[in-house]
Amino acid sequence: MAWWGVTTAVVGRLPSIIIKNHHPSSPFCIKSSSNHYSVHILLDNNNNSIKLKSNSYSVATAAATFSCCSAAMSFSYGYDKQQQLIAAKKAVSLAARLCQKVQKGLLQSDVQSKSDKSPVTVADYGSQVLVSFVLQKELPAQAFSLVAEEDSGDLRKEESQETLQRITKLVNDTIANDGTYNVLPMSEAQVLTIIDCGTSEGGPNGQHWVLDPIDGTKGFLRGDQYAIALGLLDEGKVVLGVLACPNLPLESIRSQHQNAADKVGCLFSAQLGCGTYMESLNGSPPVKVHVSDTENSEEASFFESYEAAHSSHSLSGSIAKKLGVKAPPVRIDSQAKYGALSRGDGAIYLRFPNKGYREKIWDHAAGYIVIAEAGGVASDAGGKPLDFSKGRYLDLDTGIIVTNQKLMPALLKAVQDSLNEQALPSL
Ligand code: AMP
Ligand code: MG
Repeated sequence: MAWWGVTTAVVGRLPSIIIKNHHPSSPFCIKSSSNHYSVHILLDNNNNSIKLKSNSYSVATAAATFSCCSAAMSFSYGYDKQQQLIAAKKAVSLAARLCQKVQKGLLQSDVQSKSDKSPVTVADYGSQVLVSFVLQKELPAQAFSLVAEEDSGDLRKEESQETLQRITKLVNDTIANDGTYNVLPMSEAQVLTIIDCGTSEGGPNGQHWVLDPIDGTKGFLRGDQYAIALGLLDEGKVVLGVLACPNLPLESIRSQHQNAADKVGCLFSAQLGCGTYMESLNGSPPVKVHVSDTENSEEASFFESYEAAHSSHSLSGSIAKKLGVKAPPVRIDSQAKYGALSRGDGAIYLRFPNKGYREKIWDHAAGYIVIAEAGGVASDAGGKPLDFSKGRYLDLDTGIIVTNQKLMPALLKAVQDSLNEQALPSL
């Protein structure tokens, strides 16, 4: 007996497996290999397909065994996860190409003022369109929900006509040059529609992609670090993350090697339970990475925002002093900090925004799993894990701190001591 055609889909919030071309009179049985896993069989005799609906992707490793007549077939949700990883890597790689082109033009242009926000606007939208496009092309059978930074509101205004034309051309040129997708060029109206695929609210149920199309826009404008950051939430937890860092050196940024800074362009990827890997954006075999395992806070260097307006440099300085850190802070933009930390370029990342600033989930989702799967831990300043299930914002206590498991207790103490001192009225 021939294999049944199998596709996967998400019906409502529940993942489904659809077995096509099933003969209605064939006997059918299903058995689950996990206690936590329930499966419903929905028969559809009109198109001879059977739909199997399970209760959660969080049991993704559970394999259901189907038997039908004499043909036995095993199906694992691992297939889905693999497809999602491939799609996510492809999506951010293509978006990175668009961003690199725009940044190169920006830096070469004599006319363009560096304070002009228009290049970053074009690249932000273009990146969001490409990521949304690739995910939907690569995962056609999965329901698509995207929580992303941009929406089309401003672009629909009369004065944005030229910007929209530039975005549309950039997107179409990038897709055509890549050659993977044999599609007609997108119209401006399609570009607007696809940008608005990113307006999902996320939340604790189902799966949601989380995208920052250009994280670190200030770094992008300066010609420094930025990242295209894409995460995947499943039932409120980050289960996948990819970070494209087009300007991050492939070697450690602590490396003293000559020309080490010449080879740039890193792609970090992580999936729950599978570790974190780094490869070159130009294509190279992925290499497993691990956070620094130093237990000695005196030899731990730390990362923080380049922009003092994004994170208090004086507070991080006070924490570093308490820990006895000798090295000066490494200040770079974007979630490239999480990537660099995941391969041990430094041991600590400190982030303390001004009071009242609300962190967005797309600024941390991908970085969070890249660090966790590399053996590190990211928490708020009180030691609580970051909660991505609350919608578009993180609900945080004071700041975000990241380090390895061994240094975390000492770091938490230094953070609390510094925060308490800061709260005391000065004499
Ligand atoms: P970084 O490059 O690590 O400083 O972080 C870049 C991100 O900081 C951007 O994507 C913004 O979403 C976010 N951001 C913008 N304004 C602020 C602020 N006032 N405080 C903290 N983060 C901010
Ligand atoms: Mg950002």
